[in-house]
Amino acid sequence: MSADAPRIGVLALQGDVHEHVRMLTGLGATTSLVRRPADLAQVEGLVLPGGESSVIDKLARAFGMQRPIRDAIAAGMPVYGTCAGLILLADRVDGAIAGQETFGGLDVTVRRNAFGGQSESFETSLAVAGWDVPVHAAFIRAPLVTGLGPGATALATLPDGGVVAVEQGRLLATAFHPEVSGEHRFHERLLAHVREARVSAR
Ligand code: GLN
Repeated sequence: MSADAPRIGVLALQGDVHEHVRMLTGLGATTSLVRRPADLAQVEGLVLPGGESSVIDKLARAFGMQRPIRDAIAAGMPVYGTCAGLILLADRVDGAIAGQETFGGLDVTVRRNAFGGQSESFETSLAVAGWDVPVHAAFIRAPLVTGLGPGATALATLPDGGVVAVEQGRLLATAFHPEVSGEHRFHERLLAHVREARVSAR
């Protein structure tokens, strides 16, 4: 690991934290678990893992993390959200539980559990804008992007046109889980956002 390796935090309140840590470490990032505002202050980029968005939201508020994460997003911190993490980045959520909030920042509407429950989980191959080799994507109680504001760009769609990967500035989100299928290009894109943020901060 080089001294200037990107320092990436994984929000570690609930969800598939360790799959992301393994992926990021494998890509040469210095990785840490983020549970407290002081942990967030140490990192240059953040992953919001898959899991249960309503639980992560509740714990984030209980741990005093909602405001710091919103502030970091507003300040331009690169963030990558997978599945529940996409929901947490969305400005608007259909099918949220009563009182569920998000960090927001991505000008999209997502529908939770858009493909049904665990038994409707599936894997498929997806073309991603600008990439030659398709992505092998695992969808697990996944959300769907049902509305895209002018600032957000669709990176990948299902054959029926449903949007499942989006980017807006340094915010990246996928409805699926590259960290479980060994697909590393989205995490690399997060690291590229971090390097670009370093350059523009100079
Ligand atoms: N259905 C979950 C939610 O609403 C997301 C599932 C996942 O992250 N694999 O948060």
